[in-house]
Amino acid sequence: MEKTVFEKIIANELPATKVFENERLIAIKDIAPAAPVHILIITKKRIPSIQKMETDDLPLLQEVAKVAQNLAKENGVEECYRLLTNCGTDAGQTIFHLHFHLIGGRPLGPMA
Ligand code: 5GP
Repeated sequence: MEKTVFEKIIANELPATKVFENERLIAIKDIAPAAPVHILIITKKRIPSIQKMETDDLPLLQEVAKVAQNLAKENGVEECYRLLTNCGTDAGQTIFHLHFHLIGGRPLGPMA
């Protein structure tokens, strides 16, 4: 199975601006930011989407929340940000390797 873009970034086969890394997660700046702060928090384990998470994977969500809190604070957006994951092509998912968008740095307004 061909590596996902994020597996290549995790393996340092593609460049990215890393802002956090531990054994289970990596966070990078999005290549096409939707806002002044747009960070992707990515599981190192290749999980296609949140819908495909197994019960054993679920503790990763707690860790994603903690990393998001810390990165929001570091980037000065802790009072206004969005943390979201797209699940499925029709929801806008383009990379089928679980990741969460942390978006902020401007007024975000309503979702739609
Ligand atoms: P999705 O559409 O799957 O929810 O989000 C994928 C995100 O990955 C998009 O926001 C896109 O801009 C970002 N992205 C795609 N390719 C790369 C890349 O090579 N490097 C980085 N840093 N971000 C990427």
